Amino acid sequence: MSKNWRPATTLVHGGTLRSPYGETSEAIFLTQGFVYESSEAAEARFKGENDGYIYARYGSPTNDMFEKRMCMMEGAEDARAMASGMAAVAAAVLCQVKAGDHIVAARALFGSCRYVVETLAPRYGVECTLVDGRDLANWEAAIRPNTKVMFLESPTNPTLEVIDVAGVAKLADQIGAKLIVDNVFATPLFQKPLELGAHVVVYSATKHIDGQGRCLGGVVLSSKEWINENLHDYFRHTGPAMSPFNAWTLLKGMETLPLRVKQQTTSAATIADFLADQSAVAKVIYPGRKDHPQADIIAKQMTGGSTLVCFELKGGKEAAFKLQNAMEIVKISNNLGDAKSLITHPATTTHKNLTDEARAELGISGGTVRFSCGIEDTQDLLDDFARALKAI
Ligand SMILES: *Cc1c(COP(=O)(O)O)cnc(C)c1O
Repeated sequence: MSKNWRPATTLVHGGTLRSPYGETSEAIFLTQGFVYESSEAAEARFKGENDGYIYARYGSPTNDMFEKRMCMMEGAEDARAMASGMAAVAAAVLCQVKAGDHIVAARALFGSCRYVVETLAPRYGVECTLVDGRDLANWEAAIRPNTKVMFLESPTNPTLEVIDVAGVAKLADQIGAKLIVDNVFATPLFQKPLELGAHVVVYSATKHIDGQGRCLGGVVLSSKEWINENLHDYFRHTGPAMSPFNAWTLLKGMETLPLRVKQQTTSAATIADFLADQSAVAKVIYPGRKDHPQADIIAKQMTGGSTLVCFELKGGKEAAFKLQNAMEIVKISNNLGDAKSLITHPATTTHKNLTDEARAELGISGGTVRFSCGIEDTQDLLDDFARALKAI
């Protein structure tokens, strides 16, 4: 299989394994176990003398295809498919820390990611410092000799802040810590954290990779060495494996990923510009617009904008609720990356568990709205916004 394929080709053909039937589409291997030709063959398999499968919690053919296709896309040596994005994040963090270690993470994290580092890890004796990730000086000030893991998301949810991945990776290297990047918002098409120096990349495949609202999935990608030394045993013995059915669904999703993300990004950019001109809108944050606060970092580390738009309404929560309720095509949902356009009011949903102060730190106010652009006709979406804005 060619390493020189461009993304659209890799996402259709990468990692494909064909059974003796020569099926066109990837096969679903819904099996828990595997049989051996002889006792000696079983012994050899368990000794690791041949590469076959042992048990679906460890690995299986459909999951293998998904992992290989993701590796080719990401430029990673190895990967493990997981049942959800959170299974992937929790595994990536917890598989490499022990009591006495320290984590530094950006405070602008997906809620459950923040729980893993801020609440869960400390219960096991792993301390965590959260920083405003936009300023490298904050990362530098927070690292300690026992810092083992650094963790960030870029662009962030929901305010689409951007963090200098290469800058943080360099700081991690200075003390031998590992940088994990949650690359969900950028998608594998627009940002390559491993090339920027990160050590581990995680995805919720639930988002753009499925992209059609069907199943949960996650994946952790890194070097063979990191996976063998950290994730391999954790993964086998704690059991976050992905269902082969979901791996198959996600393989199908990957085939159309570039088409969907291109359409979603083009529409999102058009809608961001439209919103920026509206009198009811105080502010639009969109990676790709010249007025994004970190436009220089975006130019350095991303090759595309975003399928998401964050904006703030002058009328606060009341205006946000009115707008959402008046939309016809765009549905109210906390999910993102879907073919269907979705709109969320973070302060009362995804970020309701944070204190008012923590929300303010993240730039989330009553008027903040997050829009995940789907693949509908751009003009229909613009019309939907124009009509709903009149309802405010
Ligand atoms: C959705 C999401 C997750 C969690 O993924 P699930 O598949 O829902 O478990 C983690 N990080 C980010 C940035 C996400 O958007």
